Amino acid sequence: MIFEPSKCEPDPGVPARRALIRRAIGASVLALVIGGGCGRAGGDRTASPGNASRAGAVRVVATTTIVADLVRQIGQDRVEVDCLMAPGIDPHSYKATPRDADRLAAADLVVASGLHLEGRLADLLGRLGRQRPVVSVGDGLPRDRLLFGGPEIADPHVWFDASLWALAAPVVADALARLDPAGAAAYDAAGRAVAARLTRLHADLAARIAAIPDERRVLVTAHDAFRYFGRAYGIEVVGVQGLSTESEAGLGDINRLVELLVARRIPAVFVETSVSDRNVAALVEGASARGHTVTLGGRLYSDSLGAPGSGADTLEGALEANVAAIVTALGGDPAPVVVEPSGRATPGDTR
Ligand SMILES: [Zn+2]
Repeated sequence: MIFEPSKCEPDPGVPARRALIRRAIGASVLALVIGGGCGRAGGDRTASPGNASRAGAVRVVATTTIVADLVRQIGQDRVEVDCLMAPGIDPHSYKATPRDADRLAAADLVVASGLHLEGRLADLLGRLGRQRPVVSVGDGLPRDRLLFGGPEIADPHVWFDASLWALAAPVVADALARLDPAGAAAYDAAGRAVAARLTRLHADLAARIAAIPDERRVLVTAHDAFRYFGRAYGIEVVGVQGLSTESEAGLGDINRLVELLVARRIPAVFVETSVSDRNVAALVEGASARGHTVTLGGRLYSDSLGAPGSGADTLEGALEANVAAIVTALGGDPAPVVVEPSGRATPGDTR
């Protein structure tokens, strides 16, 4: 059966490809096989192995929305990108479904974030790596730019430093060029353009965070995803959970953070799109019991980008949205901040 690979988001070439495929196999079959996109929660989409898509395109399966964005921007119309995890999915706890295994097996190239971000996919990716190229972007970054949670435990959240993620661009461009040498110049040019944009964004974000008064420049979030962000942009970062959402926050952690919020009069804490709000809500309640009002400063994009059309469906958009929310909540904006409990809220809702 022929199928159309799922996409995390549409690109300009999709309508034309759809028209071609529709003519080739008939609309009735197509209606059955086009599943949801990465916009559907769960990342469980219809796909089957071994089927060709656009002739000559490099078929890439990317694990996370963040990696998929990078591959898409560098591969452009030479590459078909199938994103394993949907927006809002937590990569630390994500387990592959049988369909995911089929999707991965059909790829010319698998691109993972790496550094153990996709902890529960490690065995599967290891096995796949014996059969086809599997690139872990994080493993291609300079080791001296990584942060460590232990002697050999690198913090995987490298995309939060735009200047560091810029170094991931050539890793992807090189991997694509090895598979598709005819596109090497295009991948190299696109990779350089992405890196240049990220470098400019890095300077812009740093300037905006620097505008937050010193004493309030503290980012309290659900899990410890923002250490690279803190280092890059000069903001102290405190996560309720550890580097992985697989770790448990204890009562002692909550109490310690409540003490911090009260003692330093920190006005806002942040929830994340891919992590439970439970621990952050406990902080707000704990501070309130101590007579200090803490607001929810917004829902930050952490280990996943936003849904297509959200404006945060690229890393650049997500970083922009996060910084807007952080600056608003910590910078003294008098407007109250409201976070929808549905999980669909974005930092944009805070403006
Ligand atoms: Zn994380």
